[in-house]
Amino acid sequence: MRVVFLGAPGVGKGTQADRIAAQFQVAKISTGDLLREAVRNRTVLGLEAKNCMDQGNLVPDDVVVRLVREKLADANCANGFVLDGFPRTVPQAEALGRVLSANGMALDLVVNFQVPREDIVRRLSGRRSCPKCQATFHVDFAPPKVDGICDRCGELLGQRSDDRRDAIEMRLKIYNEQTAPLVRYYDERQLLHPMDASGAVDVVFQHLSQELAPYRAT
Ligand code: AMP
Repeated sequence: MRVVFLGAPGVGKGTQADRIAAQFQVAKISTGDLLREAVRNRTVLGLEAKNCMDQGNLVPDDVVVRLVREKLADANCANGFVLDGFPRTVPQAEALGRVLSANGMALDLVVNFQVPREDIVRRLSGRRSCPKCQATFHVDFAPPKVDGICDRCGELLGQRSDDRRDAIEMRLKIYNEQTAPLVRYYDERQLLHPMDASGAVDVVFQHLSQELAPYRAT
């Protein structure tokens, strides 16, 4: 199973990618997670990427393509992978195509997650995460048992710097300008599959697992 999860920030790609990866035993490759880890570890890559990320801008194509190329070479991708948040530009999609075909592989499917804009802003601005164990919560939809405290490890919850209002607006603008063209790009290649992701997490997951079942590795 080799799939891409495409969609604006806040549509739930990451949450669904975690579940699908566990259910189908494939690797989840999230460029956002990889970049945030690099920022936390203060690596050269993290220091380079931090400013772009805080403002809601994209990190340069060559940086993320290199990250993904390394991850795809890992043994845990042998069974397949879910790409979450990559590609985000047409040049990234072209680079992905080249990396896969150089290894005799191709994508099976690109799932296009769709959620109305007002729901996206509500989802993102209410999102809280644990700086220690990375668990995520939502002030309305998935609140922690004790306000502001991580259920899993007891740490004080925080807000991602790019989940603040101004950064959200910037991320949505960038999505429309740079990532939305991928809908047409993959539609022309007959890989695009629309997915209504406005429902509850469990409902979306059920639909998604049904759609992806034919691509399960045998
Ligand atoms: P995400 O967690 O997918 O919302 O990504 C968080 C941030 O990481 C984005 O707003 C970008 O700054 C950066 N990022 C993640 N994936 C990419 C990508 N494929 N290309 C460029 N920047 C990315």
